Amino acid sequence: MTWALSVPLLPEESLSSWLVRAALRQGCDPLSLTGAIWPTWRIWTRDIDREIPLARMRPLVNASGISSAKFQKAGMRDDCEKVVGYSLPETRTWPWLLALGSRNRTRHGGQQVCTLCLAEDSTPYLRRHWRFAWHTGCRFHGVQLVDECPACKAPIEPHRLTAEDQHLAQCSRCHNDFRKAVCTSPLPEAFSVQVMADRVLEQDKVTFRQASIAPADWFSMVAFFIGVIRRASRRPVSPLADALLSLGISVTDCRMPVSGLAFELLAVSERSALLVALERLLSMGLEETFSVLVACNVKTSALHDPRRSPPVVLLPLLSRLSHHPHGPHRRRVPPACRPMSERAVRASWARLKRRMKAEPTS
Ligand SMILES: [Zn+2]
Ligand SMILES: [Zn+2]
Repeated sequence: MTWALSVPLLPEESLSSWLVRAALRQGCDPLSLTGAIWPTWRIWTRDIDREIPLARMRPLVNASGISSAKFQKAGMRDDCEKVVGYSLPETRTWPWLLALGSRNRTRHGGQQVCTLCLAEDSTPYLRRHWRFAWHTGCRFHGVQLVDECPACKAPIEPHRLTAEDQHLAQCSRCHNDFRKAVCTSPLPEAFSVQVMADRVLEQDKVTFRQASIAPADWFSMVAFFIGVIRRASRRPVSPLADALLSLGISVTDCRMPVSGLAFELLAVSERSALLVALERLLSMGLEETFSVLVACNVKTSALHDPRRSPPVVLLPLLSRLSHHPHGPHRRRVPPACRPMSERAVRASWARLKRRMKAEPTS
């Protein structure tokens, strides 16, 4: 049966946002609404922004009166597959899509908002592009996106709001209104990478070193360099870190992530710091970058894990570097009671803090 009150999908609205709004509009909790549509499917334990599988579409189309084509367009799958260049499995983290880190219905993060967009909306709603990992700022308001409640630091979990909450511009734990948050400026270099990546996603082909490459090749090249920057920040005393420093990239910046978590799991401030470094590297030009790497005697093994092949578009550049003269592989067995390094302690503390953000399972 179709709902008495229709709830149209708003421009660029994410699927989770629409489901939450639809529930609040009918005067019920998101959990009750989705339980009525899909009695045996627990949708909030998965990342529903990705897609509503076609096999699950019928009851939703019937209740909402919205076509399945519109729901498909609101999902993230098409864009995410264009970014990676292959078809994505239903489970596991999708590259470049912020990971929610769901455990039952609680989350570790993965949702960002622009508080000024929410403040201007007549009905506040979440945009699809806020889920992209390369997004750190709002293109309309020039402010940094917010990925946690500014008051209680909880992750943004609109699916946990209840019927009484009425709108989704608030924290589901402390009910702080996000629209009253004080905004900060995004880092301009991180924002220019965002603009660049958005442009690449809109196109079918990108020009790279006088050649035409697919958007997926561009994103894999960019992911490779983020990996290089993170490797250098793990070894601040190394030829690679020296090379980056001479290019004006400080890998010891205090905003750099220490956790070792995947890019899609990092906080907006940590992703911004990496994107700033990436922007310097890209704007320098790769010819220049690789000349400096050669001059500093950086080996290919310092740039990436040799078990994973680097992006094809970078092979001609990488071939200029020398390979590491590996002897027989030596495995270091740490003594059982050797103290952990300060960096290792800080990394495990950062990972623990992320886990602690999610409430214990109820
Ligand atoms: Zn905005
Ligand atoms: Zn809060």
